[in-house]
Parts: sequence; structure tokens; C-alpha cells
Amino acid sequence: MSHNKGIHHITAVAGDPQQNLEFYTKVLGMRLVKKTVNFDDPSVYHLYYGDETGRPGSILTFFPWSHLQQGEPGRGQVVAVSFAVPEGALEFWADHLEEQNIDYMEPFERFEKQVLGLQDPNGLHLELVEDSKVNKLAGWSSGVIPSEHAIRGFHGATLAEEDYEPTGELLESDLGFQKADEHADRHLYQTDAKLGSVIEIIDQSELDGRPGKGTVHHIAFRAENEEVQRSIRKKLLDTGYHVTERKDRQYFKSVYFYESGGVLFEIATDDPGFAIDEPVEELGSQLKLPRWLEDRRDLIEADLPELN
Ligand code: ZN
Repeated sequence: MSHNKGIHHITAVAGDPQQNLEFYTKVLGMRLVKKTVNFDDPSVYHLYYGDETGRPGSILTFFPWSHLQQGEPGRGQVVAVSFAVPEGALEFWADHLEEQNIDYMEPFERFEKQVLGLQDPNGLHLELVEDSKVNKLAGWSSGVIPSEHAIRGFHGATLAEEDYEPTGELLESDLGFQKADEHADRHLYQTDAKLGSVIEIIDQSELDGRPGKGTVHHIAFRAENEEVQRSIRKKLLDTGYHVTERKDRQYFKSVYFYESGGVLFEIATDDPGFAIDEPVEELGSQLKLPRWLEDRRDLIEADLPELN
């Protein structure tokens, strides 16, 4: 099993971009690693948060569509996004969230790990998970969060499905995961990656999710390069999934498909990464546009709300 299997990024829907920026950078201490627009709808920002360099497995991105309805987490969605923090860090986090007046759930144990639950300003379910795999990974200090306690990247994500089995099979046969454990209606899949190595599936027969603010739009899994992506895509097509053509997302190349339970999956390449159009020290400091939108920059900028 290759160490670069696992989650590449997760994309969710937010409301107000300024509120979103403040929560993820000032409360959670993540770095804004790219400020760009939704390439399919340039009237809205696409904000990327991650570790210092925005490595795959650390990237949570948002489309702040302020006009959209409030979403409801449920079946057919990623219903929780989990961040990895070093062992022992939750004590700091509980104090920090209290100081920031953010509600959180007292840490509890799940699959032998300590988990602290909270929500972002739009109601997106987040978790901080003490994960021994990241004890030795360097953390970025935002100034708000000391580097020893900082979020390292993803621990994993939880999917709600009517039936976990077909999705579990997909994770195992095409995406490099292995079933590791189960408890009641919760099924644990893992890779050996340091970041983003966990997918938990909960069987949920009742509530359908409703897309909108506070919900996940899609989840992307890693392919180390275009060649690996091509072979995953071919295998998926052979199995009967409707996979899109490859799209150039500037910082990675992507293909998309719906898994059987209705969650939008993406396969994204590790290359070229976020330093392709600005140096690492300046990541996120300016609005970056792909070359095919650059000649409309004035119009696009005039349309976007101000962001400080
Ligand atoms: Zn994506």
C-alpha cells in the first residue's frame, strides 16, 4: 500500500467569506494557502486552508455562496471533517475554544482515539482527533495556535450512507483503503498515509442530506500523478462509474464521479501544488486566477466581496 493514498482535499459550502476566513485562520489557526475563485462560477471565491505549504491531506476548501440555503447533513454526504492534532493537544484546544466562545463537545473516545467535536459558523461538523501518526509532523504556528498543538492536516472524514458496503468496496478496491474496524453502525477504513488516512462510514437509513451552507460539497482522494489518476479513472469506468474527463484545477488535475450512495468523489493529483503561482512565503496573500480567467480579472474582482 502506497503512503500517498488518502484524502487530498475536502470542499465545503460556506456563507459569508469574511466570517469563514476568520474562523479557519484565527480560531483553528490554519493557513489560507490560496485565494482564488470557483473556476466554474468566478463570481464566488474559492478559499483554500491548509498547513504551511498546503500539502495534500491538509486542504479544506470553501465556496462561500452567501445566497445559498442552509444545508442539512445527512445520507449521501460527508457529514464530518476530522483534523489530526498530536496526542495530548485536546486539553489546549478545549481551553482555546472556551476562550474564543466556541461551543464544543467534551472529548470522547472513538476507535481508540480522543475526539473533540465542534461546528464552524455555518454548522459544518468538525472534529479534532488526537492522532499519534502526526506527533512527529511539524505544525505551523499561526500565532494563535502554538505549533506543538496546531492542526497538522486531516485525520479523516465521516460519510453517511444508506448502505456502507458498496462504498467500502470502492474504498478498498480503487482508493487504497482497508477495512480496519467497526462499531455498531460505524465502519472504519484506513490507509497508511500520515494525513487524511481515515474514512468512517455510518449506515443511515433515515435522513437524506440537503446541500447548502454548512455541508460538504465533495471529497477528493489522492493520485500521486496523472498516470496514476488515469489508471484509477480507467478502473472506475470499467466498474461502471460515470467519471468526468480530467479538469485542470491549476493546483492539481481532477476527475469526478458519484459513488453509489450519492457522495461526490474526486481524484486529484498531488502535482503541481500551491506554489505554482506564488512563493510559499506569500501563499494566500493575493487573488490568484488561472490564465484562462486572467483577462477578465477586473470584472471578476469588481464582483467579489472584500476580504481582509
Ligand atoms: Zn475538489
